[in-house]
Amino acid sequence: MTKKIAIKIDVDTKRGYDVGVPRMLDVFKQENIKASFFFSMGTDNSGKAIRRIFRKGFLAKMLRTKAPSTYGFKTMMYGTLLPAPHIVEPNPAPFLRAIKENHECGIHCWDHVYWQDKLPYLSEETIRNELTKAINLFEKLAGFKAKACAAPGWQVTPRSLKVQQELGFSYCSDVRGYYPFYPVMNGKKYLPLQIPGTLLTMDECLGSTLDGKEITEENIVDYWLSHCDQDFNVLTIHSEMEGLKQLPILQTFIKKAKKLGYEFIKLEEGKNVPNIKECEVYHGYLPGRAGTVARQGK
Ligand SMILES: [Zn+2]
Repeated sequence: MTKKIAIKIDVDTKRGYDVGVPRMLDVFKQENIKASFFFSMGTDNSGKAIRRIFRKGFLAKMLRTKAPSTYGFKTMMYGTLLPAPHIVEPNPAPFLRAIKENHECGIHCWDHVYWQDKLPYLSEETIRNELTKAINLFEKLAGFKAKACAAPGWQVTPRSLKVQQELGFSYCSDVRGYYPFYPVMNGKKYLPLQIPGTLLTMDECLGSTLDGKEITEENIVDYWLSHCDQDFNVLTIHSEMEGLKQLPILQTFIKKAKKLGYEFIKLEEGKNVPNIKECEVYHGYLPGRAGTVARQGK
């Protein structure tokens, strides 16, 4: 059986959307592969992420991943010194091009920073409002309903899982794990299916010591490939990183993986894997990431 890799793109910021998405689409066209985009549809409040500076590990991560040169200073001021701009509505072209070129497109959120920082405190009603705003704009522009949703920062609560279930997504990708599964949280089972990310992200890898060595821009592709050991591997990338400064690393990854015989597929194909089980979702830590993320239990 051919081993498969799905590339999941989180579009978090206006700059990643306006500039990074078209560049990634060019690379996917050159390499003749399809990928899965999840769009932050509404406001870019990236500047408020500065608040996370007070959280353990954030400053080190900012410096290690060279965040100011990756994100641009303007992005880092959105929602604080500069007003929070809207991402998709003023410039629907990258979104529509991704659809036209037959990539999978889904919803990341309305406001990434709001979800990532506040989710544990948000009521079902507020979560529903946030997702509904994104769903409505998606449908207005695309002419069809979004089938999938991927929570910002892999942040979930029983309330967010319940709202996603009510909204009737065909699958979600909110969790870090190893195989598609039905989520159970606090003893309760939820639909839809979760298709988890299986690999560490670039910002988690760079500067971290993994498998006994420091991961750098030079060896990250080989590190990722050595961990594409599932039948269905999912790499999450960011339009702000792999779509901008780190685009050559993305292209190298695709070329090397193809040479090794991997097939690139859309994330939704995870619905077809055999033997889907129920698994616990818990809040756990990952190397190179401040705070917890939703993880798949064994
Ligand atoms: Zn994101």
